[in-house]
Amino acid sequence: MTGDPREYRDRFDAVIADVLQQALRIAVAEPALMLTGAAILHRQRKAAATRRKYEKEGVLVPPVMMISLTSRCNLACKGCYQRAQHRAPAPEMDERQLASIVVQAEELGVSVIVFAGGEPLLKKNEILALARDHPALLFAVFTNGQLIDAEAADAFAELRNIVPVLSFEGFRAETDMRRGTGVYNRLKTASELLRNRLVFSGISVTVTSRNLGAVVGRDFIGDMLGAGVKAFVFVEYVPIEPGTEDLVLTDGQRKNLNAAIAEFNRNSPALFIGFPGEEGEYGGCLAAGRGFVHVSPSGSLEACPAAPYSDTNLTTLPLKEALRSGLLERIRAEHGRLTETKGGCALWTNRDWVQGLLVKP
Ligand code: SF4
Repeated sequence: MTGDPREYRDRFDAVIADVLQQALRIAVAEPALMLTGAAILHRQRKAAATRRKYEKEGVLVPPVMMISLTSRCNLACKGCYQRAQHRAPAPEMDERQLASIVVQAEELGVSVIVFAGGEPLLKKNEILALARDHPALLFAVFTNGQLIDAEAADAFAELRNIVPVLSFEGFRAETDMRRGTGVYNRLKTASELLRNRLVFSGISVTVTSRNLGAVVGRDFIGDMLGAGVKAFVFVEYVPIEPGTEDLVLTDGQRKNLNAAIAEFNRNSPALFIGFPGEEGEYGGCLAAGRGFVHVSPSGSLEACPAAPYSDTNLTTLPLKEALRSGLLERIRAEHGRLTETKGGCALWTNRDWVQGLLVKP
């Protein structure tokens, strides 16, 4: 485990640069992708230096910022973590507020913006405008894929700095069982639209104790590679819905997952990422600004999507000041206790502790 924060930051920056470099190698056959990828990689190196400069001023800028654009969704999946959180209703950020956050994030040295939801493509026009205004930022859009039509695929192909990441649960039976009848077919149609336009796209799969074997199996991976998928994100199941703890990966299964990811990265023409992955290499959980932060649909700055607690809101406070949040600092100060990843997410496992930090003076 890494004791020195400088050391883990350097290591994490190196991993981000590696991932982008690997993505670039995968895109090597497509000149249009290469140009955008090279620009993004070049900016990442400068962004890492910018982050280091702010760190000296006492502002820990994470390389990755996740923004949940909306809590609305066009599907009603079983075990949806967004609905299971029962967040109090709050007005969502408008286009101007969102744009301001992305401008500030780029200035401070954030490298990758991850859009999630709800369904982020319900705000497709905002996403396209942001990608157009920030050509050297990488925008990963985690989507259920149902709103990707030819027009959306054309727009992604034109911009090149948007990476759509489509949610699959496995093949048709598993995907439709959780997400609804017809979802798998529409996902495959969306994948084809993206592949035909040479869009660098990925899939995300929630990995449970039940589907692990299938989703890292040769059949599934081969089918997706054949469909043109360039990046695979395996997200460990977090039992936000009570009574689903048996779906959490065991320690042995987690090891198998991480080993499979390492093996695929060595031998497959795509990028494979696990989340939370090998956090132990970085001295524990990467949330709270150590590696990433989360912005809720109403602008609250949070440690992680799975820890819906906040003491700052970006609609009233500049990002640079909000990153000095007392809650985030307290979580980071004791992050050593967040090495317990049983349940896929150390913050969720320790959620009572996180909530308790909010009320401290
Ligand atoms: S697509 Fe995502 S946000 Fe929408 S219902 Fe399914 S799990 Fe929830």
